[in-house]
Amino acid sequence: MELSQRLQKIPPYLFARIEKKIEEARERGVDIISLGIGDPDLPTPGHIIDKLAEEARNPENHRYPTSVGLLSFREAVANWYRERYGVELDPRTEVVSLIGSKEGIAHISFCYVNPGDINLVPDPGYPVYGLGTLLSGGEPYIMPLKEENGYLPDLAAIPHDVAKRAKLMFLNYPNNPTGAVVQPRFFQEVVEFAKSYDIIVCHDAAYSEITFDGYRAPSFLATPGAKEVGIEFNSLSKPYNMTGWRLGWACGRHDVIEALGRLKSNLDSGVFQAIQYAGITALTGPQDSLEEVRRVYQSRRDLVVDGLNALGWHLNKPLGTFYVWAPVPAGYTSESFAETLLEKAGVIVTPGNGYGRYGEGYFRIALTISEERIKEALDRLKRALGRVKFS
Ligand SMILES: *Cc1c(COP(=O)(O)O)cnc(C)c1O
Repeated sequence: MELSQRLQKIPPYLFARIEKKIEEARERGVDIISLGIGDPDLPTPGHIIDKLAEEARNPENHRYPTSVGLLSFREAVANWYRERYGVELDPRTEVVSLIGSKEGIAHISFCYVNPGDINLVPDPGYPVYGLGTLLSGGEPYIMPLKEENGYLPDLAAIPHDVAKRAKLMFLNYPNNPTGAVVQPRFFQEVVEFAKSYDIIVCHDAAYSEITFDGYRAPSFLATPGAKEVGIEFNSLSKPYNMTGWRLGWACGRHDVIEALGRLKSNLDSGVFQAIQYAGITALTGPQDSLEEVRRVYQSRRDLVVDGLNALGWHLNKPLGTFYVWAPVPAGYTSESFAETLLEKAGVIVTPGNGYGRYGEGYFRIALTISEERIKEALDRLKRALGRVKFS
């Protein structure tokens, strides 16, 4: 059976070739160190697990949940927004639970995009923005994120006729894969742009709590006028090491949240209530685990950045996310560099072109591995590469 045109448009999995090589190396008995995994290695805090265990035993939670989420979960999100950002949200109309934020990010296009419509998509970026756009029949219009612009899109470079046809604009700060952060001034420009072209802004704030050196990430929704033009996605996955639990939310502009809820109520039946109760505990309970998470990633970040700079890189320390984004040395492409590190050092990094064509010439390191293994990886890089050059 031929695949649908929709699915045929989805590019083949870019890391497939590297994965095959990893498999081969493992079979040869090579001790592989993976710096490629964007998934926290630390466990979910105990008090959150305890809440899940308790609620899992309550028969009231064994039934279908509502697809938009328990009101108490949505209230916990609204309270968190008030305390964290000073943003007021109506939990009944301006918050919807998600089966992880990825689910909502993939589905939002189905609410607004007709065949031939455009979504504005950052590149390099989290692949789901473009995938949701394609699956819903739309066309991604690439907004290049360039180092010289601090990995912010240049809104003035988006052609007038493209902006007029655009339905959604995806943004993500702190940014995966670049680690870039924003100042509130940029969000102001985004609100003005979105208002003048009638575009819905979808800000992905998955790393809002993973920040360093005292930097605090702003919410897009704290920008004056933002709630009239957009929504924000967030999730318990990264701050509370809960990627496997699948719990996130979208919040903001009420008709957009309503549309997403309407789609979801026809597609899925929401998140296991016991998980939602555990999510409430995560958001409202003690936050010392979050402090610890920041401390751990910051220390690993320093190790990686200092280690690479000692080999000849000139990297600044990213203020957010658990990634380090770095250029490949002269003479390499993203893929040839990743393959070289795998073959010569048994170290896996993610080739930057996996995040879009503007990621070509870069690689990403994830800080989701112990300092001991990071040190070992850096030693191996030193032996394999010596001192690196960039021109
Ligand atoms: C990890 C991640 C997400 C989503 O995580 P969920 O587990 O689906 O909530 C969303 N956006 C970015 C940029 C991410 O890296």
